[in-house]
Amino acid sequence: MQLILLGPPGAGKGTQATRIGEEFGIPPISTGDMFREAIKKKTPLGEEVAQYIQAGELVPDELVLGIVRDRLAQPDTAVGFLLDGFPRTLPQAVVLDQYLTEKGQKLTVVIDIEVDPEILVMRLSGRRICQECGAVYHILTKKEQQAGICDHCQGRLIQREDDYEATVRNRLTVYTNQTAPLIKYYRDAGLLLQIDGAQPISAVYQGIITGIRQRLGQ
Ligand code: ADP
Ligand code: ADP
Ligand code: ZN
Repeated sequence: MQLILLGPPGAGKGTQATRIGEEFGIPPISTGDMFREAIKKKTPLGEEVAQYIQAGELVPDELVLGIVRDRLAQPDTAVGFLLDGFPRTLPQAVVLDQYLTEKGQKLTVVIDIEVDPEILVMRLSGRRICQECGAVYHILTKKEQQAGICDHCQGRLIQREDDYEATVRNRLTVYTNQTAPLIKYYRDAGLLLQIDGAQPISAVYQGIITGIRQRLGQ
């Protein structure tokens, strides 16, 4: 099963990715998480991508394609994968198609989570993530049990620097200009599953699972 999660920043991709991955036994792969990990570890890749992420711009395609190629070459992806935050540009989508064709694989479904911009700003400004494991929280809609501490690993919760309001607006513009065209690309390919992401987390999840099962004829 080869899945893609598409949708603007704050739509709920990361939140849903973990659960969908568990449901189907496939690894969720988040390019944003991989970049944040590289920045934290101060690797050469981390140094290179930090400025783009900080500014709310996209990381150049060559750098993104490099890490995705390496990740998809790992043996745990033999059963499939769930891409969260990739592809984000048409060239990335085209290269992914070529790569899958070479491997004799095909995309199963592209899940597009749709949410209005005003809600996105609220979601991103209240988002907190675990510094250690990347788990996602929200100050209003998904609170941790013990203030400032991750429920899963006891790590410290922080606000992402690119979630400050000025950067958020730029990220939403970047999404509209560079990533939204992928909706048509995948619709034309007959792969798109659109989900109303303004619903509560569990309803979004149910919509996704039901939609995927329908596609698979299960
Ligand atoms: P969000 O979950 O808010 O949509 P991500 O964690 O997916 O954000 O990504 C954070 C940042 O990492 C993006 O704003 C962008 O700078 C960079 N990034 C992640 N994935 C990609 C990609 N596929 N192409 C280009 N840049 C990316
Ligand atoms: P993305 O990966 O698409 O950028 P996240 O999964 O990180 O989005 O979610 C963004 C913020 O919105 C997080 O703080 C998360 O807890 C919250 N959130 C996610 N889905 C919902 C939802 N359906 N309803 C309310 N808040 C949500
Ligand atoms: Zn944690």
